[in-house]
Amino acid sequence: MEEKKRIMSGMRPTGRLHLGHYLGVLKNWKQLQEDYDCFFSVADWHALTTGYDKTDVLKENVLNVVMDWLACGIDPDKATVFVQSTIPEVAELNIYLGMVTPQNWVERDPTLKDMAKILKNKEGQNSQIGFGLMGYPVLMSADIVSVNAHYVPVGKDQVAHVELTRDMVRRFNNVYKTNYFVEPQPKLNECSLICGVDGAKMGKSFNNDIKISDTEEVTAKRIMQCITDRSRARKNDPGHPDKCEVAFKYWQIFGNENEIADIEKECIAGARGCADCKRQLAAKVNEYFKDIREKRKYYEAHLDEVQGILEEGSAKARKVTQKVLNDVRNIIGMY
Ligand code: ATP
Ligand code: MG
Repeated sequence: MEEKKRIMSGMRPTGRLHLGHYLGVLKNWKQLQEDYDCFFSVADWHALTTGYDKTDVLKENVLNVVMDWLACGIDPDKATVFVQSTIPEVAELNIYLGMVTPQNWVERDPTLKDMAKILKNKEGQNSQIGFGLMGYPVLMSADIVSVNAHYVPVGKDQVAHVELTRDMVRRFNNVYKTNYFVEPQPKLNECSLICGVDGAKMGKSFNNDIKISDTEEVTAKRIMQCITDRSRARKNDPGHPDKCEVAFKYWQIFGNENEIADIEKECIAGARGCADCKRQLAAKVNEYFKDIREKRKYYEAHLDEVQGILEEGSAKARKVTQKVLNDVRNIIGMY
């Protein structure tokens, strides 16, 4: 039997996950775990790059992310699920990759500029980019090469990161006259960004998200805040689904073909008020996430099981990373 190709991906434990994470990332992971040898890492060192001083909720965040993953169908029997900081090999690989990475490669990283802006907003003019944050593209590459991954699932905006990892890998292979590291390829996810209830990108820092773990009541409240067709004053005015900024977009995700067609017709005819439309939408979204939320509740009540999954995942990942690190130390010529 041909060995499955390896995939590495991760998420920072910076809070509970939202519908954008489910639709944009986790649904894709769920599919990938069927055909690939997947490694999914809770990137807690990466959380420290911007949150090194906010560690009181770190452990809780790690568990919340993992429970979201499991609830959404990431299956520990198929994929290896673990916490980054339990894999010391990644930290050592970070050192070796850092040695062969020119400073201007990490400086040109576009996300770093975004992060610097966010930090400035939060901390003012004197905000400093830490050495750790500066080096996060190297750490990310260390994650990827620690299992010698073939593919990295990414959205369009993150392809540059994988390119950078490929550059580092090529450089490493060149310097040490080896072809040990695989040049990882981006596995492009076509899903476009999900918008939040205000019409901007759904983000956990923007107070516009619906969490996977939200209750039905909170979800309904949130959905009632969705922006609709701003040009519509009364509920009997003809509506414009194409100008409906959020609600109709959600219908297109969560409704079936017939529902969407009916809603479009009724809206245009002025036979469907926005409030009623959103009430129905809330019920639809809650139905969509019903099983996922029930599964999450189960894990919330069985935290020891979640911790056991992480321990096993870590042990499984380390079997691979220890072998990689051992090879790498030999290739470089370490004592
Ligand atoms: P923050 O507001 O703190 O940046 P976030 O909600 O944007 O948080 P991230 O941790 O930055 O979440 O993103 C984790 C992953 O989820 C990334 O791969 C990102 O592309 C994806 N993602 C985040 N938000 C969305 C969204 N609205 N739609 C689709 N994918 C998303
Ligand atoms: Mg983000």
